[in-house]
Amino acid sequence: MSAEHHTVIIVGGGPAGLPLAVVLGGWHPFFRNSRMFAARYAPLAGYLQQFDRTLLGLDMRHLVQSGIKPVDLFRTLHHPRQLFEELDQVAMDFRCGEPLDALLISREPVGGLWNRAPQNLLTLSPGQWMEFAFYPLAQHAAEIGHSLDVNALILKTDLIEYYHRVPERFGVAERIRTFEEVERIEPHVRGFQLTSRHVQTGTEQRYTCKYLVLATGQRGRLRSLGVEGEDWPFVTSHYDKPADFPGERVMVVGGGRSGDWAATELHDAGKQVYYAMRQGPAVHWRLIGYSRHGLPYYQRMAAILESRSPRLNTLYHTHVTQIAEDGRVGLQTPEGDQVVEVDHVIKEIGGTADYSILQGLAPLTLTPMRDNYRFQVDQVQIHAHNYESIDVPNLYIGGYLAAGIGLVVIAMHGTTYAIAGDILQKEGRLSPSPSLV
Ligand SMILES: Cc1cc2nc3c(=O)[nH]c(=O)nc-3n(C[C@H](O)[C@H](O)[C@H](O)COP(=O)(O)OP(=O)(O)OC[C@H]3O[C@@H](n4cnc5c(N)ncnc54)[C@H](O)[C@@H]3O)c2cc1C
Repeated sequence: MSAEHHTVIIVGGGPAGLPLAVVLGGWHPFFRNSRMFAARYAPLAGYLQQFDRTLLGLDMRHLVQSGIKPVDLFRTLHHPRQLFEELDQVAMDFRCGEPLDALLISREPVGGLWNRAPQNLLTLSPGQWMEFAFYPLAQHAAEIGHSLDVNALILKTDLIEYYHRVPERFGVAERIRTFEEVERIEPHVRGFQLTSRHVQTGTEQRYTCKYLVLATGQRGRLRSLGVEGEDWPFVTSHYDKPADFPGERVMVVGGGRSGDWAATELHDAGKQVYYAMRQGPAVHWRLIGYSRHGLPYYQRMAAILESRSPRLNTLYHTHVTQIAEDGRVGLQTPEGDQVVEVDHVIKEIGGTADYSILQGLAPLTLTPMRDNYRFQVDQVQIHAHNYESIDVPNLYIGGYLAAGIGLVVIAMHGTTYAIAGDILQKEGRLSPSPSLV
């Protein structure tokens, strides 16, 4: 089978991979001294003003040595303050130039895990924190004639509509292949060889590339319970809305944010919910306590639990041991073994970053990252100035999979500019800048 070659291949079309397709597609940032940026970051504005070429040409290595991470610089340029007031506050102007030959491959439509998030889910952060700097959410809303408070939490449906619009809006739709799962990434004389399979037709495809960006997200592979009966049709790991679950009795297995959302919404739709989780009440209530003042659905969950609603039966320190065809679920609880009969089982047990698709390459150095937001992922050690793996040259790590980017709930596509700049500089498309800091 002959392989299709591209200079860059991005694997994963979520909020981390999608903006790279646009920036490598030719949309480069230039400094624009916005009123708000100048007022808040005058010394930085003074330095950047000397630079009339694209910011992708900045000497990121020198920036890091001076104590400025690329992710922080571009976040500050994008959000000189956390509240959105006007389009002109973004201290970057994006101009369309020559594209680099880059292809994005993803097994879902663009927008990543947001495609499968529940229909009524609200974002955890203000809508505009989820936007790309080259396309403020307020601009998108104005263009489609939609009234949206971009400083509020927004609905998943509004967010995914925004992401879906990006490829056409920025002329990169031809460089994106969706519903293709990359099964293997191996070394090749031209750099990397990828083998993918179309998720609907099963057709296999081969690619080669010089640079590879891995942006497959924290849920590359969904976790399984590892128990008998997990494959019955009434067991699912996809929760969208209550109407998808006819009948009265639903078991939600989880205990994180996704499980909390499903359990709360199903309870309020009149279902009898059994909510089984491995953790104890102290750990669960830490998340609820932490979130109930900012997130409306956590206020609701706390109210349901505090009212001791008989329709939300929380089963702490509980393991599912078996699921029978007739809907009986075996549970191991601190009070002994129990059996609960239900119409549906919803698994909200998360996923893990999947590095197993990288084969025959040097092993990646991984660092576990855990935080109070229930953010759990083994991140890849990278060079701080370009997010290139320290182990595999020309392998770049996009989004939360890159170690050291911290929790970037604001501007989570923060790895975009340093990766794009590094590749363009290596390709001789940008001359290195004089050091500005
Ligand atoms: C329910 C939920 C709510 C969240 N809310 C917020 C929030 O409000 N604010 C916030 O900042 N973050 C939030 N997050 C964190 C979330 O991780 C980010 O919002 C964001 O989606 C991460 O972007 P990503 O591109 O790294 O990964 P993803 O969105 O997971 O995208 C990765 C894409 O790569 C694809 N892919 C994976 N493996 C392969 C393969 N082998 N071949 C081809 N394609 C592949 C996946 O199918 C997916 O489409 C939330 C997460 C969840 C689960």
